[in-house]
Amino acid sequence: MLIVMKADATDPQINAVLRVIEELGYKPHPMPGATRTAIGITGNQGSVDPSHFETLPGVAEAIRVSKPYKLITLDLRPEKTIVRVGDATIGGDELAIIAGPCAVESRNQAFAVAEAVRRSGARFFRGGAYKPRTSPYAFQGLGEEGLKILADIREAYGLKIVTEALDEAGVDLVERYADVIQIGARSMQNFSLLRRAGRSSLPVLLKRGLSATLDEWLLAAEYIMAEGNYQVILCERGIRTFAQHTRNTLDLAAIPAVRRISHLPVIVDPSHGTGKNFMVTPLARAAVAVGADGLIVEVHDQPDHALSDGAQALTLEQYEQLVSEVRSIHEVIAPAPVS
Ligand code: PEP
Ligand code: MN
Repeated sequence: MLIVMKADATDPQINAVLRVIEELGYKPHPMPGATRTAIGITGNQGSVDPSHFETLPGVAEAIRVSKPYKLITLDLRPEKTIVRVGDATIGGDELAIIAGPCAVESRNQAFAVAEAVRRSGARFFRGGAYKPRTSPYAFQGLGEEGLKILADIREAYGLKIVTEALDEAGVDLVERYADVIQIGARSMQNFSLLRRAGRSSLPVLLKRGLSATLDEWLLAAEYIMAEGNYQVILCERGIRTFAQHTRNTLDLAAIPAVRRISHLPVIVDPSHGTGKNFMVTPLARAAVAVGADGLIVEVHDQPDHALSDGAQALTLEQYEQLVSEVRSIHEVIAPAPVS
């Protein structure tokens, strides 16, 4: 059920609707918008009787939701969500650039890359402290020591830190040291992790699962939002197909497809999406051209010596060039408003 309030509904009228929803044993999700507030309802097993709401003051409509998702939809929130991380945004006018190494390997490595990321004007730094590796014998990340290095980078350069939590205890740690919780492709359907991230006050970057359909991915976002955290960023990072010329098949059609259904910002990861250094910049250009709200890109000061994903890492010079190219494309497709 979705309750749409009248444009002139007052705060006490909205609060009265929220109270009725709670009294029925459900959870209300108020979404204030530019023209009206809508209220999503979750926690109901069967359908909710619209007559509870239709006659309440300030209510314009009580709409039955036939789709599997309730909170990610444009029906609930017709305007795009802008995720705010301090003074930086994802989903607003600015193209969000999140860049950094696959993994934090050492203080020197992370700072060398962070310096270039800062210089490029990007607002976000990425780097895994806990790595979800296919082999248990591969480098697993520096753990909390890596998070401390990331926190020092935040302090030194003012970059916002995006880093992965592999489990619920990991979310506690990411909350302590970072700014955005990354949920990796392999964890997209770890429902207890999604719920825990949904109870965090930090935004969540949700990667698409290795072979997730659009619906499965959007429902994973719905898990986070159903707990009350509406600051979710979707990230297309390629899916498994029969193709062997890339590590994954980057599904750029997912961007306009999601846009048609959801108000959430969508970014693209051309690094994991291709797995190959020489493909990252062309696919990054394409991602911005199809309307992505941002990019997450792997960069290394010495790709040949990277402890993970060296083959897809950009050099510092290649990264700098990528940023200037994608900014030009973004200006063409989303010209800055004249002030
Ligand atoms: C990553 O971005 O560090 C990562 C592990 O990516 P994915 O979860 O998309 O494989
Ligand atoms: Mn990686």
